[in-house]
Amino acid sequence: MSSLFPALTAGPAGRVALSFGDRTLTYGELGAAAGALAARIGGAGRVAVWATPALETAVAVVAALEAGVAAVPLNPKSGEKELGHILSDCAPTVVLAAAGDELPGALGDLERVDVDVRGAAPLPAVHASPEDPALIVYTSGTTGPPKGAVIPRRAVTHTLDALADAWQWTGEDVLVHGLPLFHVHGLVLGILGPLRRGGSVRHLGRFGTEGVARELNEGATMMFGVPTMYHRVAQALPEDPGLAQALGKARLLVSGSAALPVHDHERITAATGQRVVERYGMTETLMNTSVRADGEARAGTVGVPLPGVELRLVEEDGTPITSQDGETVGEIQVRGPNLFTEYLNRPDATAAAFTADGWFRTGDMAVREADGYVRIVGRKATDLIKSGGYKIGAGEIENALLEHPGVREAAVTGEPDPDLGERIVAWIVPSDPQSPPSTEELADHVAARLAPHKRPRRVHHLEELPRNDMGKIMKRALTS
Ligand code: ATP
Ligand code: MG
Repeated sequence: MSSLFPALTAGPAGRVALSFGDRTLTYGELGAAAGALAARIGGAGRVAVWATPALETAVAVVAALEAGVAAVPLNPKSGEKELGHILSDCAPTVVLAAAGDELPGALGDLERVDVDVRGAAPLPAVHASPEDPALIVYTSGTTGPPKGAVIPRRAVTHTLDALADAWQWTGEDVLVHGLPLFHVHGLVLGILGPLRRGGSVRHLGRFGTEGVARELNEGATMMFGVPTMYHRVAQALPEDPGLAQALGKARLLVSGSAALPVHDHERITAATGQRVVERYGMTETLMNTSVRADGEARAGTVGVPLPGVELRLVEEDGTPITSQDGETVGEIQVRGPNLFTEYLNRPDATAAAFTADGWFRTGDMAVREADGYVRIVGRKATDLIKSGGYKIGAGEIENALLEHPGVREAAVTGEPDPDLGERIVAWIVPSDPQSPPSTEELADHVAARLAPHKRPRRVHHLEELPRNDMGKIMKRALTS
C-alpha cells in the first residue's frame, strides 16, 4: 500500500502543513522529519505516542504510518492506573515523545525515542497492506473502561476520503483545531484529515474562542469541535460581535463526539448566519454519517450515511426497521470499509459487537426521517428511559430543558420507579445558582414542549456535569 499522504512527496514542499502556535512545519519539513523518525522505528511492532497537543505528536503518528508500524496514542493526562492498563493491554516496545516531556513511571520499561521535528531523511517505501493496523485507539471510556480498537489503514483512508466527498474538503482548506490528539476526532479527522488532503492545520494548543476568531480572521476555513466548544461559542457570542463576524467567514463548522444541543446550534446560527454540520462516528467505526456541505443542516440530526457506509436501524430482536417515519426508534448498526477489525485482546467483546453477517452494533439509538436523515436519540445503555410503557430518549428532554433560560447545562437519566418502571430525572446546572428553576416549572416547561409523560419527576442541581476529556457527559456518575 502506498503512503496515506500523497502531499508529503507530490505537493508543494513549501506549503505549511501544521502549526501549533508559532511552531510550524511545511510539507517538505514534515516529510523529512517523518522520514528520519520512520527509519528509527521501522522494526518496532507497535509504538506508543505521548500525545500532547504539539507538533511532535503529529510527526510521530505520520512517521509510524509511513513506517507501517501501528501507533497507540496515549492521553498524557491519564492516571498511572489507566496508563498501566493500556500499556499492559497493547504492549508497545517504544514510546515516542517530545524531548522535554517528562514521562510517568508506567512508561519506564519502554525504549524512549525523542521526536525531532527538524530531523531530515527521505521517506521509506511503505511496506503495509490495507488491512494492517494503522492505529490502536482507546475508546473515550464514557460507558465503561476504555477498549482498544484496532483500526486498519483502509478504515482511515476510507473515512477521510468519504468526508472529503461529504464536506467538499480540499487541500485549500485550513483547519482551526483545539481538540486533544489521542482520540479519533482530534487525531484522525483533525490531523490526518488535512494532511491527506494536502491542506493545513492550525492547532490552538488549548481551545478558546479568541483563538478561533483569530485563526478564522487569518484565513482558516474550517473548525472541528465537540459540543462543549460550540456551547462556549454560543455563550460568548452575545458579548463578542468580533467572534460572530469571524465565524461568519468560515466555510464549514463541524461538530461531533456527542450530540450538539439544538439550543446552542440555533443560537450560533442566529448570531452568525452559519449552520453547524454534525457528523456521527465512533472509535470503532470512524465516521458513519454526516450532514453534507451541500445538504440541508437540520438541528438535532447527524445527516446521512457517508459514501460506502451501510446503515440500518433494528428492533431489539434484530429485525430491521424499514419505516423512515421519524418516530420508530431502533439501534444503529453499520457495515463498511470504515470499521475497525477488533477490540484488542477482547475476542468476546469483538464477537458480541458484530452480527453474524458483519453488522456492527453501535449501541446508539436513533430514528430516521423520511429523507434518510438520522436523528440520534441516545445510547441504549444510558439514554433510553422506559417509563409508563413508553421508550423515551434522554436527548430530546435535554434539548427542551436547555431552552429554559434558567438552565445552563442538562443531563437526563432514568431511575427505578415502582409505578412507572423508570422515572425521568433531570440533572441541571442552573444559569443562576442563587435562584434555580423549580421542579414544577421545569416539568411544565418540558410537558408543554414535548408531552406530559416526558416531564422530569425529580430535578437535581449541580455546579457542573461530570464530563470526560472530550466533554462527554459521564452518566454513570449521575446517581441519586
Ligand atoms: P466508551 O465506548 O468507552 O464508553 P465512547 O462511546 O464515548 O466511550 P467514542 O468511541 O469516543 O467513545 O464515542 C463514540 C460515541 O459518541 C458514539 O457511540 C455516540 O454515542 C457518541 N457520538 C459521536 N458523535 C455523535 C453525534 N454527532 N451525536 C450524538 N452522539 C455522538
Ligand atoms: Mg463507545
